[in-house]
Amino acid sequence: MYIVHGAYHFWPKRVAFRNDYCLGCDKPRLSFAVRTFDVGHVFWIPILPVGFWNHWKCSECGRDPHVHVKTRRSFKWIGFGCLVLLSGMFWLTPTGSNDGLTWFFRIAAPAGGTFLLRHLLRTPAEPSLKDHLSKIQPAADVVCPFCGTPLGVSSEGRWTCPACRCVRY
Ligand SMILES: [Zn+2]
Ligand SMILES: [Zn+2]
Repeated sequence: MYIVHGAYHFWPKRVAFRNDYCLGCDKPRLSFAVRTFDVGHVFWIPILPVGFWNHWKCSECGRDPHVHVKTRRSFKWIGFGCLVLLSGMFWLTPTGSNDGLTWFFRIAAPAGGTFLLRHLLRTPAEPSLKDHLSKIQPAADVVCPFCGTPLGVSSEGRWTCPACRCVRY
């Protein structure tokens, strides 16, 4: 049985911002945290209040900045391996009644494999998120990026917007 489940996000409020690296945009970006009161639901019936959670979002694309969107390189290598196996298989099978299909795979699988290998060798390995983040300077804004109010230092020593309570990370 398929159980519909998920979470409701209540009372969203922007609480913080930081300089970040967005894997979706593949660029350094400003990201901000939205705090919501999350309640888990099953079949749309709120069941489990899990409390306040911060969700980081890219200011440009709105996605979680640290979620991979591209096909991982390792998956491409696996794909390449499959294509090599497939070409081998179809070159070893004797051509029989369905010649057309066998010949299609005999040509298409090595062609696809060559294309993928060229692509893999040409594109440099993507630097990991950690490398990207190590190059990001911490935010140094002195005005709030959301409401333009000059930031002040809160009692906990954090730069905070006195108007909308956003915290600089
Ligand atoms: Zn983004
Ligand atoms: Zn503000």
